[in-house]
Amino acid sequence: MPRMESYKDPLKELARPYRKAVLKALLVICVIGATLFSSMNLLKGSYPLAFVEIAMGVYSIIVYRAIRHTRHLERWIIAYLIPFFTAMVFAMAAPRATSAVHAWVLLIPIISHLLMGRRLGLAISVIYMGIAAVIFLLRHQHQPDMMQALPITNIAVISLCILVFSHVYEVTRETSERELMKIAQTDPLTGLANRARLSDIFEREKHRSRRYGSPMSVLVLDLDHFKDVNDDHGHETGDLALQHVARIFRNCLRATDLAARLGGEEFGILLSNTNSAQALEVAEKIRIAVASEPLTINANVIRLTLSGGIAELGPDGDTLRELVRAADTRLYAAKDAGRNQIIHAIAESVVPAQT
Ligand code: GH3
Ligand code: MG
Ligand code: MG
Repeated sequence: MPRMESYKDPLKELARPYRKAVLKALLVICVIGATLFSSMNLLKGSYPLAFVEIAMGVYSIIVYRAIRHTRHLERWIIAYLIPFFTAMVFAMAAPRATSAVHAWVLLIPIISHLLMGRRLGLAISVIYMGIAAVIFLLRHQHQPDMMQALPITNIAVISLCILVFSHVYEVTRETSERELMKIAQTDPLTGLANRARLSDIFEREKHRSRRYGSPMSVLVLDLDHFKDVNDDHGHETGDLALQHVARIFRNCLRATDLAARLGGEEFGILLSNTNSAQALEVAEKIRIAVASEPLTINANVIRLTLSGGIAELGPDGDTLRELVRAADTRLYAAKDAGRNQIIHAIAESVVPAQT
């Protein structure tokens, strides 16, 4: 069995370079901070704290080297932030630490959200900020000047503000990234997916298909004599015809199928959980619908037909490129055989035009 490739979430992929840059900056700052603070704590005689700081400094250097070529950035982020925040909390709890150490708490929500996203970022922030609050209250419970409503409220509100702003920023960033990705993966004329999205979804579905042993097919469709539509009725009408056909695709397909415009008047349809024979049924449904639902514009009845080829994951190839090539070959065989028909295996049956 071929090696299982892991599916890469495109949004996660997009966030990677900037998360890596943020983590690198944090690691550099930590090495400098660890050197400064451990020296001062050694001089002060706070040996356990100095030891923790030196350990974090060394660990920062190790992580910096490890993330240069890693494919598991997310794991390294967690493997670094948990000890980092724990060391921070330890510093707050250390008997000889000054209360200024608590100012570091404000870094937790910013770093967590930048590096771990909105959900995990929020969860980790709340946990560590909660622990820091408990340590703060235990340490200062016998200091009447600190245990007053005003300083406590001040600290609580500023901490909450930074937590809320970090979270809102990350939610907004992720939402706008998702919107931009959607625009970048949609064909503006028909509203169907474009090649980039087809490719992403193909990778995801291939992963699922391998995992569950389910079939998957690709259908390539091309409008017949479409140049004539443009020549006879104008390019604008040609555009309306493409939108009309896209609407028919949507009506004929299940929510789990994906129709994409590959370019011009050629379309690719990804049919998950569908073998070649079942794909032929879907293709026929589409072919008949397109042939029997002409587009009427200003009393002009524009009749459209299409030809298609089908390829199945496995027997016809393992990559989208291979499957589209195989389906394309069959599509051109269908054109040669007279158009308005679908071919689903090369030596094989041509389904003759019925309408
Ligand atoms: P065949 O049956 O062999 O596929 O013939 P055809 O005329 O469809 O094929 P050909 O590749 O010669 O022409 C494709 C036409 O599709 C030419 C081009 O003007 C038209 N076309 C491609 N993209 C668009 C588009 O976005 N809008 C419009 N209106 N026409 C388009
Ligand atoms: Mg054509
Ligand atoms: Mg074409």
